Amino acid sequence: MRKDDYTVALVVPVFNEHETVETFVSTVKEKLASLKDHIEIVFVDDGSKDNTCQIIEKLQEKDDSISLIKLSRNFGKEAAMSAALDLVDADAIVPMDVDLQDPPEVVLEFIKIWKEEEIDNVYGVRVDRSQDSEAKRVTSGGFYYVFNKLSNRVKIPSNVGDFRLIDKKIVETLRQLPERNRFMKGLYAWPGFSAKGVGYERPQRVAGQTKWNYWKLWNFALDGIVSFSSLPLRVWSYIGGFIGILALAYMFWVIFEVIMGGVSVPGYASTLCVVLFLGSIQLISVGVLGEYLGRLSEEIKGRPVYVVSKVTGPLSNQLPKGMSVTTVGVTHNDQTKH
Ligand code: UDP
Ligand code: MG
Repeated sequence: MRKDDYTVALVVPVFNEHETVETFVSTVKEKLASLKDHIEIVFVDDGSKDNTCQIIEKLQEKDDSISLIKLSRNFGKEAAMSAALDLVDADAIVPMDVDLQDPPEVVLEFIKIWKEEEIDNVYGVRVDRSQDSEAKRVTSGGFYYVFNKLSNRVKIPSNVGDFRLIDKKIVETLRQLPERNRFMKGLYAWPGFSAKGVGYERPQRVAGQTKWNYWKLWNFALDGIVSFSSLPLRVWSYIGGFIGILALAYMFWVIFEVIMGGVSVPGYASTLCVVLFLGSIQLISVGVLGEYLGRLSEEIKGRPVYVVSKVTGPLSNQLPKGMSVTTVGVTHNDQTKH
């Protein structure tokens, strides 16, 4: 049993969400009323172009449990989450979407398990994906399968998103992971510690539009696989070796044929097939190299994952030493030194 005077921060990245912010806050307040003194909300504004920020600032006037970390531009949901993980100092953190696709009442269950069973990573499992299209379900199932086959140590459970409760010690471990390519699903699993799943039904977005499309999802999947497995990079030597052996065998066969029957002219089609096949294999392998090299260059440049332009609300009083409300250019590395 953990201590009774705990705080749990709901961390909510928002990007052009003027339609959903207010509903989110009122629903959370209503559903989590029983834990009122333990819950704080931290919005991370990921460079919204609409009036999301103004709406949050208005809400802050009436409610002193709401903080806002404003990023200097759109860095992506994963970077926004990283900003919050670096800055928020609560006993546990719950990453949530603002569109209420992560039902607040499930947070009660998360907290109960975290507190009573002392589980460090309580993750939400979507039990009903009937809201998603068949294509989305099949592709996402395929992704989990491939990811877990390729990644030899870090395994991610299927139908699990960012919605979960993570204990402070996982948050502190995550702060030490310096990578810029932040595939959070994998990173949440990386520190280890005790984990338990809680099933929940994922409703439709309350308002507004999803920011995802298939091209983004495909790149997201690539990010995940490339950052947690180097098998795609290494497999080419085996494929090359295998094709080499076949080619050698074929060569001996051709030489044998020439010796036995003299030079035979036909062979145009088979030559072309072999050339095209090998050409495509080579292009694929160069492409895979490119996937890794591109990400490697991102990492080597060492740019900050996000840049904070301001922090307001209760969080601004709890920032790590040496950071003021108007700090610009917080880097992931800077944070880990505190
Ligand atoms: N989001 C963000 N930055 C982005 C895109 C999305 O902070 O560049 C936030 C968005 O405001 C929402 C959450 O990430 O709170 C999930 O986004 P969305 O609902 O579009 O994704 P989906 O639920 O469809 O996967
Ligand atoms: Mg959503």
